[in-house]
Amino acid sequence: MTTPVYENFINGHFLKNQTGDTFAVKNPATDEVIYHVEIADEFIQNAAIESAKQGFAAWSAMTPIERSRILLKAVAILRERNDELAKVEVLDTGKPWQEAECVDVETGADVIEYFAGLAPAQVGQQQMVGNDFYYTRKEPLGICAGIGAWNYPLQIACWKSGPALAAGNSVIFKPSEETPLGAIKLAEIFIEAGVPAGVFNVVQGAAEVGQWLTANPNIEKVSFTGEVGTGKKVMASAAGSLKDVTMELGGKSPLLVFDDADVSQAVSAAMLGNFYTQGEICTNCTRIYVHKNVYQQFIDELKTRTEQNIIAGDPMDPEVNLGALISKKHQELVLGYIDKGIQEGATLLTGGKALSPASAPNGYFVEPTVFVDCKDDMTIVREEIFGPVMSVLVFDDEDDVIQRANDTHLGLAAGVFTKDIQRAHRVIHQLQAGICWINSYGNSPAEMPVGGYKQSGIGRENGIETLDHYTQTKSIYVGMSNIESPF
Ligand code: NAD
Repeated sequence: MTTPVYENFINGHFLKNQTGDTFAVKNPATDEVIYHVEIADEFIQNAAIESAKQGFAAWSAMTPIERSRILLKAVAILRERNDELAKVEVLDTGKPWQEAECVDVETGADVIEYFAGLAPAQVGQQQMVGNDFYYTRKEPLGICAGIGAWNYPLQIACWKSGPALAAGNSVIFKPSEETPLGAIKLAEIFIEAGVPAGVFNVVQGAAEVGQWLTANPNIEKVSFTGEVGTGKKVMASAAGSLKDVTMELGGKSPLLVFDDADVSQAVSAAMLGNFYTQGEICTNCTRIYVHKNVYQQFIDELKTRTEQNIIAGDPMDPEVNLGALISKKHQELVLGYIDKGIQEGATLLTGGKALSPASAPNGYFVEPTVFVDCKDDMTIVREEIFGPVMSVLVFDDEDDVIQRANDTHLGLAAGVFTKDIQRAHRVIHQLQAGICWINSYGNSPAEMPVGGYKQSGIGRENGIETLDHYTQTKSIYVGMSNIESPF
């Protein structure tokens, strides 16, 4: 059976490349090639820039209300096609249908809706300065590039295009080469909704295509989601033409469970924050610090629930709640970390092996894995694994655990479980992380800004402030009296 070949999406339609080079995309749950994608060669790259220039001219000339109306149509189509799009995400990523069906499309649509509503409300300022005055305009930047990771492909494309388009920019988006289809579907939906051709373009390929985007002088901003190491390369390359950057990078986030916490709730949060999307979430609380008084109770319940309640298998089965990892290579990387944990002396509470479920025997599954008796300097406690691997540590002093939680170059997220409201806020205020939860974990509504401290990122996505990151301020001074001049 021949598989489909997808071309790049430029100027409102699919465009064939000239080299004929393609790459294959596999379904992580079956190890089968499901389609091929053409790589954006020089011809496509040049066409993308020309298209985005024209798209920008048309789109930025429209009023924010007009843009908003069109984007809201796209939101409606996204919601109407929820199931079709969710299926694309399941086949590309290996994540469970039961997640994609209610999270991926919905949270993407929410963000476009949020910024479509916000853009017409964005205003400049004016101020008198003597008899003269100045006013400011919020103008779009121009062509913005988006570069996505593979864990939430459609959602990432929506989170980057929502504020960029609402503010009047055009976008060239490069999805991850592991999961390229969601962004194409979004491009088609934008056209159907009435977004002018050229406003949202999709180029396909791996690092080389990403490097071209970051170096191209016609592009004003790069919004990147991916690994810390790649983010550094992107930023260095973007510096060549002084592009604005947003960096959504990796994490190794702590969750602190105090002895007055509702332990069952804390176990729920720990499981969500390590096993949802088979552990492939940047904000995951992969370091769980549990107070010594509730440590045994916590790990007993965690072991029972992990062994009894997790169902791995064909991700399209609505009962399945643990999917396949993105690739064979990533599965091996995660299993390598598990070996390292064992070698360095952590105790394996449960899991630790590759899985081959009957309904998806060739998928890249890893058992939900919990290490206990972990020490702060172990590799599994220090490095992002990006798989279903949780490290549990014990503490008995508040100041000490805050210092341990902060002892990392990353700072994406953090959480606290306690019933003492003063302690909850006191502790959260001292944790060096951009996204924090109290008695909760993982929720990320469109209204809430998200982004990292330290090496986990620069700038924010979502929330009001993100719209500012897609506009630039023009100040206009207006003289109301004769110019005083010594000349
Ligand atoms: P990655 O860094 O390998 O790739 C991300 C994207 O960058 C891909 O599209 C890739 O093709 C492209 N790329 C690779 N090299 C490049 C280069 N030199 N120049 C430009 N682009 C280049 O990341 P990944 O493996 O796709 O995703 C997993 C990582 O993403 C994890 O570290 C995770 O924590 C992070 N992530 C962060 C967030 C967040 O919001 N903070 C969200 C999701 C994922």
